[in-house]
Amino acid sequence: MELKTELSEVKNYIDGKFERNGQNSMDVISPIDGSKISTLPLSTYDDVDKAVQAAKKAFPAWSGMTLKERVQIFFKYRTLLEENIDELTNLVVLENGKIYGEAKAEVLKSMELCEFAVSLPQIVVNEVQEVSKGVECRIERKPLGVVASITPFNFPNMVPHWTIPNALVLGNTMVMKPSEIVPLSTVRMAELLKEAGLPDGVFNLVNGGKDVVEAICDHPDIKAVSFVGSTKVAKIVYIRATSNLKRCVALGGAKNHLLVLPDANVEMTASNVVASMSGCAGQRCMAASVMVGVAKIDHIIDRMIHYAKELIPGENLGSVISAEAKERIENYIAQAEKDGAKILLDGRNTTVKGKDGGFYVGATIIDHVTTDMSVAREEIFGPVISIIRAKDLNEALEIENGSNYGNAAAVFTESGGLAKEVMKRASAGMIGVNIGVPVPREPFSFGGWNDSKFGVGDITGRSSIEFWTQNKKTTTKWNPEDQTDWMS
Ligand code: NAD
Repeated sequence: MELKTELSEVKNYIDGKFERNGQNSMDVISPIDGSKISTLPLSTYDDVDKAVQAAKKAFPAWSGMTLKERVQIFFKYRTLLEENIDELTNLVVLENGKIYGEAKAEVLKSMELCEFAVSLPQIVVNEVQEVSKGVECRIERKPLGVVASITPFNFPNMVPHWTIPNALVLGNTMVMKPSEIVPLSTVRMAELLKEAGLPDGVFNLVNGGKDVVEAICDHPDIKAVSFVGSTKVAKIVYIRATSNLKRCVALGGAKNHLLVLPDANVEMTASNVVASMSGCAGQRCMAASVMVGVAKIDHIIDRMIHYAKELIPGENLGSVISAEAKERIENYIAQAEKDGAKILLDGRNTTVKGKDGGFYVGATIIDHVTTDMSVAREEIFGPVISIIRAKDLNEALEIENGSNYGNAAAVFTESGGLAKEVMKRASAGMIGVNIGVPVPREPFSFGGWNDSKFGVGDITGRSSIEFWTQNKKTTTKWNPEDQTDWMS
């Protein structure tokens, strides 16, 4: 793979310049083969402060531009993503371990997110009305100032694009903290944003772990924090950022339930469920984790085993992110076996020839899981599906409703009426009907319910406009007559 960026050492990007910060560093490992690919600085509060000061300095000029002017940069940036798609895809493959097609789909989604952002001048139209004779009220959307974005390891290219284009086009300046496990993609984004003409200081990158996140939550000059990651950390970030009086939306983990009814189309359902649980090695917050099989669905499970057996680790099934992740996933499978579940397909102890140091787990199907088992309740984040049997749709919905999470839920059926019932009663923010990964595409917004999201509104689409802006209400009178009417 040919890379245009020097990646042997990840640097922070502050005020338009790459610089070494942080006193300590950690290794960046490729999960494909376990090799060291870079080192990353573990930045401190002072580094975050430096980035915030740069973002603060850039804010007046950037927010002073018109929306239409700011959009021009993101037209160019979107084109640069397209021109560099092969390199960006390879970066995701290298640092995250997904297969090429999945990584490319991620960059294509980033382009779509930019397309939404460049359409914002058509959507964000201010309101004005003559509220009494000669008196006008006007509402304008104004940016917040310096905002922050904290991202997870599983979509190194796409998740940063959930926030960067919308937040910046709407006039904010940003400090971004990517996952320390996959920092390379964001370095290239910073370079391409500069190439697209983004003024220095508008976008800043501070690498590191927990200390950087805490500094972001505490820094008095950061107005809003968006977070995507596990529920445990989402809660910590939400509580810390809001207790420091910041706006916050924090997306957490998931345990998505797919309800399979006996009338479902067999091939479509079996292939969709397997694709949902195994795509990106099951490391998607929208992945199927529990399948609730209603009544007789053994014929569908048979076909699922067929499709799952076609997944070859290292070929069409990527690696999981780390040795710890592999161990965690395998422990969940072992625990399910101990608890009395039946392992129909076992992905433990998987190795890939020529990639001995890589972290691979084969597709795993576990049947006869009960709701008290850890594989039924907890996020596994690997290519594993747990099948719980239910006698009817009511029981299946009770099982789905019993989860603390609520990112996605889906139903597979040929019956419109039963599908409607699931649409109405499932306790999740994103519902699929005959779709295993029901990600809403732009302009529809992305966000779950319950422990899968804390804060008001969603992170993308129209909903994000509210999050990244505040309203200014102005009342004007340009009437020479001496009006003394009510409210004039
Ligand atoms: P994570 O919570 O471990 O890390 C996310 C971010 O938080 C990283 O930038 C990390 O540096 C930081 N962090 C980690 N521990 C911290 C701590 N104790 N204090 C402060 N900051 C801390 O998540 P991950 O493992 O990188 O990503 C996987 C998780 O993200 C899964 O749970 C997945 O479901 C979730 N996710 C959710 C969505 C969604 O839309 N709801 C999307 C993608 C991923």
